[in-house]
Amino acid sequence: MNKRDETQFGGCHCGAIRYQLDGKPVYVSFCHCEDCRRSTGALAVVYAVYLPDQVQFIKGQRKSYQSSPGVIRTFCSGCGTSLSYEAEWQGQLVMGFFVASLDNPEAFPPERHVFDSERISWFNVTDELPHYDALPDNK
Ligand SMILES: [Zn+2]
Ligand SMILES: [Zn+2]
Repeated sequence: MNKRDETQFGGCHCGAIRYQLDGKPVYVSFCHCEDCRRSTGALAVVYAVYLPDQVQFIKGQRKSYQSSPGVIRTFCSGCGTSLSYEAEWQGQLVMGFFVASLDNPEAFPPERHVFDSERISWFNVTDELPHYDALPDNK
Protein backbone atom coordinates (compact mmCIF):
# COMPACT_ATOMS: atom_id res chain seq x y z
CA MET A 1 0.00 0.00 0.00
CA ASN A 2 1.06 3.54 -0.57
CA LYS A 3 2.73 5.51 2.15
CA ARG A 4 0.77 8.53 3.36
CA ASP A 5 3.81 10.63 3.96
CA GLU A 6 3.29 13.34 1.41
CA THR A 7 0.48 15.58 0.24
CA GLN A 8 0.35 17.37 -3.07
CA PHE A 9 -2.08 19.98 -4.37
CA GLY A 10 -3.21 20.88 -7.83
CA GLY A 11 -5.92 22.61 -9.76
CA CYS A 12 -7.03 24.23 -12.97
CA HIS A 13 -5.64 27.37 -14.56
CA CYS A 14 -8.45 29.73 -13.47
CA GLY A 15 -8.39 28.49 -9.86
CA ALA A 16 -12.02 27.35 -9.71
CA ILE A 17 -11.05 23.73 -9.09
CA ARG A 18 -8.53 22.50 -6.53
CA TYR A 19 -7.62 18.97 -5.49
CA GLN A 20 -5.44 17.24 -2.94
CA LEU A 21 -3.49 14.00 -3.33
CA ASP A 22 -2.29 12.12 -0.27
CA GLY A 23 0.57 9.66 -0.25
CA LYS A 24 2.73 8.45 -3.07
CA PRO A 25 1.32 7.83 -6.55
CA VAL A 26 0.98 4.26 -7.77
CA TYR A 27 3.08 5.23 -10.77
CA VAL A 28 3.97 8.23 -12.94
CA SER A 29 4.07 7.91 -16.70
CA PHE A 30 4.32 9.76 -19.96
CA CYS A 31 1.35 8.95 -22.19
CA HIS A 32 1.47 9.41 -25.95
CA CYS A 33 -2.05 8.15 -26.76
CA GLU A 34 -4.28 10.13 -29.08
CA ASP A 35 -7.03 10.47 -26.44
CA CYS A 36 -4.65 12.24 -24.04
CA ARG A 37 -3.30 14.35 -26.85
CA ARG A 38 -6.66 15.54 -28.12
CA SER A 39 -8.24 16.02 -24.69
CA THR A 40 -5.37 18.17 -23.41
CA GLY A 41 -4.20 19.86 -26.59
CA ALA A 42 -0.66 18.82 -25.69
CA LEU A 43 1.83 16.73 -27.61
CA ALA A 44 1.99 14.23 -24.76
CA VAL A 45 1.08 14.19 -21.08
CA VAL A 46 2.63 13.02 -17.86
CA TYR A 47 0.11 11.63 -15.41
CA ALA A 48 0.35 10.40 -11.83
CA VAL A 49 -1.95 7.53 -10.88
CA TYR A 50 -3.66 7.48 -7.49
CA LEU A 51 -6.26 5.31 -5.80
CA PRO A 52 -9.60 7.06 -5.18
CA ASP A 53 -9.13 7.14 -1.41
CA GLN A 54 -5.96 9.19 -1.86
CA VAL A 55 -7.87 11.91 -3.71
CA GLN A 56 -9.93 14.84 -2.41
CA PHE A 57 -11.54 17.54 -4.51
CA ILE A 58 -11.44 20.51 -2.19
CA LYS A 59 -12.84 23.29 -4.40
CA GLY A 60 -15.14 23.55 -7.39
CA GLN A 61 -17.10 21.16 -9.56
CA ARG A 62 -15.46 19.30 -12.42
CA LYS A 63 -17.06 18.49 -15.73
CA SER A 64 -16.59 14.99 -17.07
CA TYR A 65 -17.12 12.98 -20.21
CA GLN A 66 -16.42 9.47 -21.45
CA SER A 67 -13.51 9.59 -23.87
CA SER A 68 -13.52 5.87 -24.65
CA PRO A 69 -15.32 2.85 -23.16
CA GLY A 70 -14.56 2.75 -19.43
CA VAL A 71 -12.54 5.96 -19.38
CA ILE A 72 -13.90 9.18 -17.82
CA ARG A 73 -11.96 12.40 -18.27
CA THR A 74 -12.50 15.50 -16.15
CA PHE A 75 -11.79 19.16 -16.76
CA CYS A 76 -12.70 22.67 -15.61
CA SER A 77 -15.64 24.10 -17.52
CA GLY A 78 -14.43 27.62 -16.81
CA CYS A 79 -10.91 27.50 -18.23
CA GLY A 80 -10.79 24.11 -19.95
CA THR A 81 -7.83 22.68 -18.03
CA SER A 82 -7.71 18.89 -18.25
CA LEU A 83 -7.43 17.49 -14.74
CA SER A 84 -7.73 13.73 -14.64
CA TYR A 85 -8.92 10.51 -16.14
CA GLU A 86 -10.56 7.63 -14.30
CA ALA A 87 -10.39 4.01 -15.43
CA GLU A 88 -9.90 0.47 -14.21
CA TRP A 89 -6.33 -0.73 -13.93
CA GLN A 90 -5.41 -4.12 -12.54
CA GLY A 91 -8.99 -4.67 -11.43
CA GLN A 92 -9.42 -1.45 -9.47
CA LEU A 93 -10.55 2.08 -10.20
CA VAL A 94 -7.61 4.47 -10.47
CA MET A 95 -7.42 8.18 -11.09
CA GLY A 96 -4.65 9.64 -13.22
CA PHE A 97 -3.89 13.31 -12.62
CA PHE A 98 -2.12 15.34 -15.27
CA VAL A 99 1.12 16.41 -13.66
CA ALA A 100 0.99 19.75 -15.47
CA SER A 101 -2.04 20.66 -13.30
CA LEU A 102 -0.14 20.03 -10.06
CA ASP A 103 1.40 22.89 -8.10
CA ASN A 104 4.72 21.07 -7.88
CA PRO A 105 5.25 19.07 -11.06
CA GLU A 106 8.94 18.83 -10.21
CA ALA A 107 7.95 16.21 -7.63
CA PHE A 108 6.61 13.83 -10.30
CA PRO A 109 9.39 12.63 -12.57
CA PRO A 110 7.92 10.08 -15.00
CA GLU A 111 9.09 6.47 -14.85
CA ARG A 112 8.21 5.28 -18.35
CA HIS A 113 6.47 6.03 -21.65
CA VAL A 114 3.18 4.30 -22.51
CA PHE A 115 1.32 4.14 -25.83
CA ASP A 116 4.59 4.83 -27.55
CA SER A 117 2.95 3.34 -30.65
CA GLU A 118 0.84 6.52 -30.90
CA ARG A 119 3.70 8.94 -30.27
CA ILE A 120 4.10 11.71 -32.85
CA SER A 121 7.08 10.60 -34.88
CA TRP A 122 8.83 13.97 -34.82
CA PHE A 123 8.64 14.01 -31.02
CA ASN A 124 12.01 12.36 -30.67
CA VAL A 125 12.34 11.10 -27.11
CA THR A 126 15.93 10.52 -26.11
CA ASP A 127 15.65 9.79 -22.40
CA GLU A 128 16.59 6.45 -20.84
CA LEU A 129 13.09 5.52 -19.64
CA PRO A 130 11.41 2.31 -20.79
CA HIS A 131 8.95 2.62 -23.68
CA TYR A 132 5.80 0.50 -24.06
CA ASP A 133 3.60 0.28 -27.14
CA ALA A 134 0.44 0.23 -25.00
CA LEU A 135 -0.33 0.15 -21.28
CA PRO A 136 1.63 -2.59 -19.52
CA ASP A 137 -0.05 -4.56 -16.74
CA ASN A 138 2.63 -3.68 -14.24
CA LYS A 139 4.23 -0.38 -13.54
ZN1 LIG B 1 -10.59 26.53 -14.28
ZN1 LIG C 1 -3.14 8.56 -22.83
